Amino acid sequence: MTRPATSIRAPLPDGAVFDLLVIGAGATGLSLALDASRRGFRVALFESHDFASGTSSRSTKLLHGGVRYLAQGQIGLVREALSERSALLQMAPHLAQPLSFVMPAYRWWQMPFFGGGLMLYDLLAGQARLGRTRWLSRSDTLQALRGVREAGLMGGVAYWDGQFDDARLALAFARTAQQQGAQLFNHSEVLDLQREHDGLTTVLVRDRLGPAQARIRAPCVVNATGVWVDQLRRRQSAGPTAPERLVSPSQGVHLVVDRDFLAGQQALLVPRTRDGRVLFAVPWLGKLVLGTTDTPRADLPREPEAFAHEREFILNEASNVLQRPVREQDVLSQWVGLRPLVARPEEGAATNTRSLSREHSIVQDMDGLVTVVGGKWTTCRAMASDVLSHCMAHGLLPQRSPFEPWAPLLGATSPGQPPTPLHQAPGMHLYGGLAHEVLACPGADREIGMGLTEAMVRYAVRAEWACSVEDVLARRWRALFLDARQAARMAPAVAAILQDEGVSAPGLQDFLTLCGQYLPPQPGH
Ligand SMILES: Cc1cc2nc3c(=O)[nH]c(=O)nc-3n(C[C@H](O)[C@H](O)[C@H](O)COP(=O)(O)OP(=O)(O)OC[C@H]3O[C@@H](n4cnc5c(N)ncnc54)[C@H](O)[C@@H]3O)c2cc1C
Repeated sequence: MTRPATSIRAPLPDGAVFDLLVIGAGATGLSLALDASRRGFRVALFESHDFASGTSSRSTKLLHGGVRYLAQGQIGLVREALSERSALLQMAPHLAQPLSFVMPAYRWWQMPFFGGGLMLYDLLAGQARLGRTRWLSRSDTLQALRGVREAGLMGGVAYWDGQFDDARLALAFARTAQQQGAQLFNHSEVLDLQREHDGLTTVLVRDRLGPAQARIRAPCVVNATGVWVDQLRRRQSAGPTAPERLVSPSQGVHLVVDRDFLAGQQALLVPRTRDGRVLFAVPWLGKLVLGTTDTPRADLPREPEAFAHEREFILNEASNVLQRPVREQDVLSQWVGLRPLVARPEEGAATNTRSLSREHSIVQDMDGLVTVVGGKWTTCRAMASDVLSHCMAHGLLPQRSPFEPWAPLLGATSPGQPPTPLHQAPGMHLYGGLAHEVLACPGADREIGMGLTEAMVRYAVRAEWACSVEDVLARRWRALFLDARQAARMAPAVAAILQDEGVSAPGLQDFLTLCGQYLPPQPGH
């Protein structure tokens, strides 16, 4: 791969000094870069692969207070997340929206039990409440969830939460931070860090698309590399020999199927599966997302594979609650993410990550490297603000107050203008107020598939840092996540447009291999 001729991706600024260096461009690193640049700090961010290519493009895509944290009595966590949910909904209405959920009830006690809990959820939300929790009759439930299992259905409970497009929201954070002066570099891996005598830390960065390496310095460096935080801490030249483990990864799988398994505009929640988890069936970008699982995982692959028992669990639980059974051959795509859960020192190697909290933790190592881990997409803004407070309190950055933390992101549609719902198939609406920029690129009338046009691919290179077929078809456009076979069919056309934009090696073959990993194994293989 080479740097595309028309790309906005700049060369690494060798020798430059910033106030803050952020390592990792998932939800955590990007919201930190945004908050810090809005406060006027000089910020550079390095991402070894693509923006949100780690965990942050593989979430269930829900902005939520966490109904299950409520059941665990973690009221403070729920209250904070509900207020953060509101903030994100306001910052990017084209990419983050309220969504109604229905819990079908098959036992008499489920309606009062879960309904009561959800009314407490409403109460905790206060001003941030999105709609009222309601009990539904059997016929209202059947109307709301077309495709739900009818036998034994007694009624349901409807409540509100949020949904979003994680990879595109990450991009909106990146672009807004850039607009505020931050310099962002994807496909740029941090290899090493060294604290110098002058109080600055030097970071060695490698451009993964070319031969360049750069040394860049700052008094404050934040490790926001998700499940990889401990790997980076071990790389520090002057760091302690064996830093205590901070992260306890947990794998979650999602399966995508056609919307006709559950027609309608509402999501379905199974509040208690046979092994005590929750299961969601969420309409998203024209398909239905089923998930997820919670499996401790010690290795940290970039592309974790779904275990057969995880797929089986989702298919069985979904088939229990849907009228039509879901089979492996119905799966259009499967994606797998690793939750960067905070490790508790007394727990050693975690064997049951369900009991771990999603709260975040901020740790400063002896040589000044600040590491942030944990949290969830919904609370990334609060995490960023806590990290900056930590850095200011420890003299790594001068004191500066937050600047309009709820201000809209670049591309946000104006309030009052009803956005196109995210459960609809992908289209121009995902660009919000920047749609005119896309339409100005050549090929706006030429569709490649799944709503993606030639102009969108060109725009992805020119304005959104895309450097490969995968960058385009996995994250600028969610084709790989929605239908891996269709994404593979679209790939050669995308590769040709990238080449025309100056990308000499767009990684077509690698992407076709990846598409295979996003599908369950075929019978006979
Ligand atoms: C299955 C699943 C479902 C979830 N669902 C939800 C949900 O519905 N709602 C919600 O709010 N949250 C959800 N979450 C949680 C949420 O997705 C994560 O908490 C969040 O995405 C973590 O972001 P992060 O930035 O910490 O990590 P990441 O997104 O993994 O970002 C870290 C980045 O660091 C980069 N990196 C690593 N090493 C280096 C290096 N040496 N140099 C430069 N860069 C490096 C990686 O490439 C990566 O992009 C879910 C998580 C999972 C796994």
